[in-house]
Amino acid sequence: MPNSTKTEQTSPAPLSKPAAPPRSTLTLRDICTALVADGEIGQESAERVLSANLGAASNHTSKRHPLELVAIAALTSEKSGKTLGLERLTQWLADWAGQPYYHIDPLKIDTPAIARVMSYAFAQRHDILAVEIGQDEILVASAEPFKVDWEGNLRQAVRKDIRRVVANPEDIRRYSVEFYQLANSVNKASGSQAGGIKAGQQNLEQLLDLGASDSADANDQHVVRIVDWLLQYAFDQRASDIHIEPRRTLTHVRFRIDGVLHSVYEFPEHVGMAITSRLKILGRLNVAEKRRPQDGRLKTRKPDNSEVELRLATMPTAFGEKMVMRIFDPDVLLKSYEQLGFNREDRERWQEVTSKPHGIVLVTGPTGSGKTTTLYSTLKQIASAELNVCTIEDPIEMVEPAFNQMQVQTNIDLTFASGVRALLRQDPDIIMIGEIRDLETAEMAVQAALTGHLVLSTLHTNDAPSALTRMMELGIPPYLIRATVLGVMAQRLVRTLCSHCKATAPVDLQAWQTLTKPWKAPPPKEFHKPVGCLECRNTGYLGRAGVYEIMTLSGALTSQITDHCELEQLRLDAYREGMKSLRLSGAQKVASGLTTVEEILRVTPASQR
Ligand SMILES: [Zn+2]
Repeated sequence: MPNSTKTEQTSPAPLSKPAAPPRSTLTLRDICTALVADGEIGQESAERVLSANLGAASNHTSKRHPLELVAIAALTSEKSGKTLGLERLTQWLADWAGQPYYHIDPLKIDTPAIARVMSYAFAQRHDILAVEIGQDEILVASAEPFKVDWEGNLRQAVRKDIRRVVANPEDIRRYSVEFYQLANSVNKASGSQAGGIKAGQQNLEQLLDLGASDSADANDQHVVRIVDWLLQYAFDQRASDIHIEPRRTLTHVRFRIDGVLHSVYEFPEHVGMAITSRLKILGRLNVAEKRRPQDGRLKTRKPDNSEVELRLATMPTAFGEKMVMRIFDPDVLLKSYEQLGFNREDRERWQEVTSKPHGIVLVTGPTGSGKTTTLYSTLKQIASAELNVCTIEDPIEMVEPAFNQMQVQTNIDLTFASGVRALLRQDPDIIMIGEIRDLETAEMAVQAALTGHLVLSTLHTNDAPSALTRMMELGIPPYLIRATVLGVMAQRLVRTLCSHCKATAPVDLQAWQTLTKPWKAPPPKEFHKPVGCLECRNTGYLGRAGVYEIMTLSGALTSQITDHCELEQLRLDAYREGMKSLRLSGAQKVASGLTTVEEILRVTPASQR
């Protein structure tokens, strides 16, 4: 450029980036020097990191990337005031190299395609990992952005453009191992299938049967490894359900996480069948039976060594056997009142209701509103060595050693009602009935309460007062309801804001009024809104908590329960006695910054009065 002058050359943008290092492989000194030049850290901090890791940078046997060594020092950025963790340092490195930063989300990686692009040895030698395979280009992640020696070879081999991104070195190392091991197991498992898929299916099943009788076979081990990976991976991702779904040529695997399904893997059809067979063996199902739905349970361990139960259910579909596994995680099913999302007032009201020696306590809400978690957690709180806690459930979601649990089995006429009848002969103190859905069960609950037992159960109604009218619709006379029901709690689960990234937002007065009408509640000083970060998979929400409407049946309210009682009047009286509607209870969670107005409006019915 003939016109380029000195002033233009010293424009701040190009100067703000430190020079590229002299070698292509980064050393700790390269990184520290560049961090100092960039104004991220001071010279003294750099010296400290360097002397702490004397020799580490030049030590080739060290598997640690220099960025990881800097991350260990947990320095504070002089530019942003934030801690220089590995993820932030990786972003900084991407910026330095002028390459996009990339976060590897294992749920979005097409593992088989990645393993086809380059060998494990090649990926390991160059510390790279293909992360997206497109029609004309592939995206390759590396934590060595200045190393280019592998690009030519790879370009020639795949005949596609190569786009480079910078990713966290720890992730690259971990996922390379995981993805390639998995791809390898899938390959080996399908390797012996040359004789056609039909023959293959039988083959694998025979092999699995051998495995069950403890004569290990190489092929069997691959399937075992895939199943182990699948389960660990689901726990890792906090999944609540695993779906294994056969299609025409592929078997899809999906996880449900915080209520939403994510596709995670596609196996060749016969490998998918082998996986299902292996799981059926583990769950003690009949492996040969594929035309009838079956269900079973299996117990395994999480990486932290805690036990987890899974409920397996199979269903024949046009393309083969579909399997769904529900993960019953004790950490999810058993919580303290705080973890359930009870505030102090909720807790006091709920404890008042459940501390009575006899009577009926009901929890209501639609499927998936967390009723079981509330019941288990409540039982666990009130159960003691002096009390006999018995349950009749369908299904038993979590096995708790402190309870005596019975499973409904309709095929042998063990129903909720007959179950309670049997339990009453077992000298119980507290009885939990999974659900009251017919008159017979309701009558058994009433009888148990009248004979001096505390009965906890669930009903499907929209709010707490409707539970009473529902009992009447089932055919329980009002005087028996007055004599037995202690209280009703309606509940919903709302997603809670991710504490790592939520931000404050101005109060939307109109939204607040919509939320709290017909009452007038003073608005909070500020709202909080979802942002999105790595922790919450960019959704802005992490985990869920309950919102509760707790109706305690005191003297005044009880007298309202008559043959001609009006639901509206009952509700009004309950409000007067201090019951808070689901939506108002949600508004309290909005005010304390736990969730958003949108989320409460999405899951709770409008307050009625
Ligand atoms: Zn977040």
